[in-house]
Amino acid sequence: MEISVKNDKKLRKLTCKIKILKIFKKNKTIKINAIGNINEKSAYEIETIEKAFNIKDKRQRNDYIYDRIYEYIKKNYVETNFCEFENGACIMERAKNNKPCNGCCGHCDYLIENNCSVKSLSCKFYYCPYIRKNKKPIKISHISSINCYWNIRQKIMVHYNLFQPKDILLRDINNNSLIMWAYYLIKRIINWIKNKKIS
Ligand code: SF4
Ligand code: SF4
Repeated sequence: MEISVKNDKKLRKLTCKIKILKIFKKNKTIKINAIGNINEKSAYEIETIEKAFNIKDKRQRNDYIYDRIYEYIKKNYVETNFCEFENGACIMERAKNNKPCNGCCGHCDYLIENNCSVKSLSCKFYYCPYIRKNKKPIKISHISSINCYWNIRQKIMVHYNLFQPKDILLRDINNNSLIMWAYYLIKRIINWIKNKKIS
């Protein structure tokens, strides 16, 4: 099945179409032709949406979407120094004269050699109030492939699974259950409190 996207503004329409196709033509494969004025982000999104649709195993599809979005944000926000790090201090730390501490990753055990070692997608969508006020950070709702394939429950999980490795968020997304997600979240909080008391 072939679909044409004529310009960036048609991505919202594509999202609606994919949601319908997921119900009525879920076993088919699709080819999306990007014609006309398509910017780099939209072209990346279209490629992700097409390939994700053609992956019929839901776990593999979620894994693929996760990696694609993670790589996009890493390349366009982390590697372009969106938080304006200078000598280990981000723009917020410098503006508020805080001690340099590698921004909001500073106290996380997963920060190894200035890199997130666990591909935390939730953290990639987190921006502090200073950044939210002064710059335009990327939001979950900006990502068309998320809008196509992940529902409101899964978006909540992406939003709140901060400081968690890829396998934990993917497990929650695949479970697609807010009750199970809340259970694991409460368990993590209890463990965190226990560890705080010990140390
Ligand atoms: S989100 Fe805010 S606190 Fe975190 S690294 Fe960026 S500027 Fe610093
Ligand atoms: S898990 Fe989050 S806070 Fe920890 S290093 Fe990775 S991005 Fe930073």
